[in-house]
Amino acid sequence: MESAEKWDLEMELLCLPATGGTCAQMQRLSSRIAAACDDVPAHVRELANLPNSTRRERDLHRWVGRQPWRSLLPDAYNFPIPYTPDGIRETLAEHSAFLPHEMMASLSLIPELFEELLIGPHGTLTSFWQKTAETRWYQQHPLPELHRDPALCVPIGLHGDDAGVFGAQKMLVLTWGSVARELLTLDGRLLFSVVTYAHVVPGKTIETLYKILVWSLNSMAEGCWPSVDHLGQHFSATHHPRRFSKAGLPLCLSGHRGVWSELRGDWKWQVEALDFDQWYGRSFICHLCRAHQKIPRLVYTQFRRNAHIRRTRVSSAAFRDWYMDRLVRPELSRIVGFDIWRCWADAMQCLDLGIYQSVAASCLFDLVAEGVWGATNETGFVLAHVDYKVWCRVNGHLPCPRFDKSKLLP
Ligand SMILES: [Zn+2]
Repeated sequence: MESAEKWDLEMELLCLPATGGTCAQMQRLSSRIAAACDDVPAHVRELANLPNSTRRERDLHRWVGRQPWRSLLPDAYNFPIPYTPDGIRETLAEHSAFLPHEMMASLSLIPELFEELLIGPHGTLTSFWQKTAETRWYQQHPLPELHRDPALCVPIGLHGDDAGVFGAQKMLVLTWGSVARELLTLDGRLLFSVVTYAHVVPGKTIETLYKILVWSLNSMAEGCWPSVDHLGQHFSATHHPRRFSKAGLPLCLSGHRGVWSELRGDWKWQVEALDFDQWYGRSFICHLCRAHQKIPRLVYTQFRRNAHIRRTRVSSAAFRDWYMDRLVRPELSRIVGFDIWRCWADAMQCLDLGIYQSVAASCLFDLVAEGVWGATNETGFVLAHVDYKVWCRVNGHLPCPRFDKSKLLP
């Protein structure tokens, strides 16, 4: 069997539990792999040979518990979180997260993995920070160690995304990873926590997760095991005794620390997580400038290099001050070195779903006005659509309905 096919099979096996596959399906797939391939890893063979009883799920969990990679996962951090079972009543539920600083400490015990997932080959971290050296963000970064020893600072990226898992139940998935590494999504995103939107108490549930995340990220930046929990309560012999025993010790013997570098996710998530006043649902649609939906002088569809709205961009300091006036400041803005200009919108979302729509329409108007299709009025749009339909057919795309001038205008 080709190694690419083997990889596909292994991937399928790995993804099965995440896509609603049952334990029985997982066992059947591993049996098929074990039967068809020669050098099947022992753990896959073992999975294939799990007893064919009705206790498959329990057996699967036990098998997971015996795998060497299982010991890499730090103990989950358990905490009470506001929860609503039905959208009306509000109670507390026990929830869990994998703390990034504990994951980093645990990965540092296995040098190959630590290098693969976080620090990269020699020189990777230094060259990452060199690329940002010219930015105000780097120059004004409050962490002295970043300036003293960038080669020991792992740049950390945060990622938030909605995921559909069971039927229509939407979940928010929060992950993190090293942005000095370019890895497959499955390797590059380390799980922090997950929450089901249906059980979220607005303003409380997700905020609790963010508070924990920020506390953990800031511990990572300090490079030490924290001595207090996310609420500031001291660890003790009775309160998280295992964490108490490590308080103040370095996370990694190598001296590495994690420094927040950027945040990525779609616009919706950033609006919610950073509590923007200006976003796509408002007249002023951009949190970084005065772009407006309607006011002609400020209209957001100006792309020119010298467009007036470019001069209305906020500085990160001005943006921070804007939060200062708030009663409640978004938790994520408390990350050490947080900078709004390092919160990047997902390129696919921004370009494909947002900007290109306006750019394409804008070009269409200009081309019709220049008489590319002969006529410079409605007929020009009709003829343009005929051309476009031919192009779609040739290239195997489904054409959109006729160009409606009133819908194309902002
Ligand atoms: Zn803007």
